[in-house]
Amino acid sequence: METYELEKIIRERNGRMTRVRKAMLDFFGTAEAPLTPSMLMERLAKRRITADRTTIYRELRFLEETGVIREVRLAGRKRMFELAFGHRHHLVCLGCHDVKSVAFKDHLDGEEERLLRDEQFQVADHSLEYYGYCQHCRGVSV
Ligand SMILES: [Zn+2]
Ligand SMILES: [Zn+2]
Repeated sequence: METYELEKIIRERNGRMTRVRKAMLDFFGTAEAPLTPSMLMERLAKRRITADRTTIYRELRFLEETGVIREVRLAGRKRMFELAFGHRHHLVCLGCHDVKSVAFKDHLDGEEERLLRDEQFQVADHSLEYYGYCQHCRGVSV
């Protein structure tokens, strides 16, 4: 997602655009994996933007409340965040513990309709993680 589209959402919700905020929108808009607060701090430092942990957490809370990002909760993991738009699942490597986001489309709609029919359960959301080994850990190129 383009940074300007995200900026537009922030502006529509009367949020100010700061250097830190703009950079974070950039990071989330282009990330292929959920980002932890430390990863954000590193990336900000690379752009010579200094932000302490408090600032980063305050910013994450703001972006979450604005509906731009959501928290990714994986058992035994540090807090991670990703863009709240689009339906994503995660590939978790059992070797290097890397986490990658993959976009999915309508894949469980049939099952969720069945749950409503057979279990009288209305699904609002689901989370699904795949555990396995990434290309690097498998030592192959395909
Ligand atoms: Zn791996
Ligand atoms: Zn799904």
